[in-house]
Amino acid sequence: MGLLLKQAYMLNHSGEQIVGDILVENGKITALEEQIADRGHREINCRNKWVFPGFIDVHVHLREPGFEAKETIESGTRAAARGGFTTIFCMPNTNPPLDQPELIKQVLNTAVREGVVHVHPIAAITKHQQGEELTDFFALKEAGAAALSDDGVGVQSSHMMKQAMIKAKLLGLPIVAHCEDDTLAAGGVVHEGAFSQRHGLPGIPSDSEYIHVGRDILLAEETGARYHVCHISAKESVRLVREGKQRGVKVTAEVAPHHLLLCDEDIPGPDPNFKMNPPLRSKTDQQAVVKGLVDGTIDVIATDHAPHTEEEKAQGMLKAPFGIVGLETAFPLLYTHLVKTGILSLAQLVEKMTVKPAEIFGLNKGRLGIGADADLTVVDLDLEQPIRPEHFLSKGRNTPFAGWICHGWPIATIVNGTVVWQAQASMV
Ligand SMILES: [Zn+2]
Repeated sequence: MGLLLKQAYMLNHSGEQIVGDILVENGKITALEEQIADRGHREINCRNKWVFPGFIDVHVHLREPGFEAKETIESGTRAAARGGFTTIFCMPNTNPPLDQPELIKQVLNTAVREGVVHVHPIAAITKHQQGEELTDFFALKEAGAAALSDDGVGVQSSHMMKQAMIKAKLLGLPIVAHCEDDTLAAGGVVHEGAFSQRHGLPGIPSDSEYIHVGRDILLAEETGARYHVCHISAKESVRLVREGKQRGVKVTAEVAPHHLLLCDEDIPGPDPNFKMNPPLRSKTDQQAVVKGLVDGTIDVIATDHAPHTEEEKAQGMLKAPFGIVGLETAFPLLYTHLVKTGILSLAQLVEKMTVKPAEIFGLNKGRLGIGADADLTVVDLDLEQPIRPEHFLSKGRNTPFAGWICHGWPIATIVNGTVVWQAQASMV
């Protein structure tokens, strides 16, 4: 017996809206037609709902091992499923950091045992993420690492980054870079600009990001490595990626929903739910990342889901840790504020959350077609409701978007043909 999704809206190859049935058997899509006869399959009525390939988030902090009070692989993957994500990549800045093959295997095993979506761990570039000695890339890849990153901090030494790229290229692993020059960023808590000045808060200047972006693009050009910029936020970084692509450098970039939808003028006051790294930058930067997304300079939208406990976030702007949660709000926020406003087409948004991340990280996912993995997201684009952090499945409640009214909520998430999350009182 299979799972039959009836009369769903879908996007065809040209990005046009079509209606049809999808049959899922043994974890794969086995038929996709205008009408599929019911032969005792379990049916989901998808009339007036959309079915997309499951969303892929290439930048998630699952916090396990070491910071289980913030999030666990179990709670983080449930939050992912609720947000319509069927595949996530988790960052290595855990405790201990994911710098040993055993730790990569441990995350993978826990994800299979306790998780509800696919998890691909990203391994550390340097031992203990201290920027001084490379990890064993070969062993980490053998253990299942999907990419390499010291996310949370930038790789300060140019020599170290160059060696990392040379080695990563030989193994075909992408370098996924948190771009931050410590000497320029030192001690900052918000973007260096009008807001930081008004509130007397130490600023993080944009050059702390784009100096690394520029350096790394040149190193990628020299070494031929596959280089992916994490959470791009500054207009100069967007320009550097655009120019790098024009020269044929293998550079890709991601942007987080909060950098697309907010700038430092939107911070109501010293509220740590608006404290993240990179910080919310100026209006001009925000407009530049939106433009970069629209013109294809920025390939992927990734949430940088970064849960913290309420106690940690209650410490005020200076002391609270950086980061906000993002998995459960990404699609409704982006659909409401980029698609309904006409900035991005629905097909473009879906491409940036499925096709592109799959392409960059070499996954055979992100498409609806016969034989494809049955990782699917059912979304009600008409459903309108506010963001309620108290309902999050993530342990983190730290979001600047509480109370925002959004359209386009995922209502069921299917991984390998199994419904792993379903909205209560939904249509099934
Ligand atoms: Zn980061």
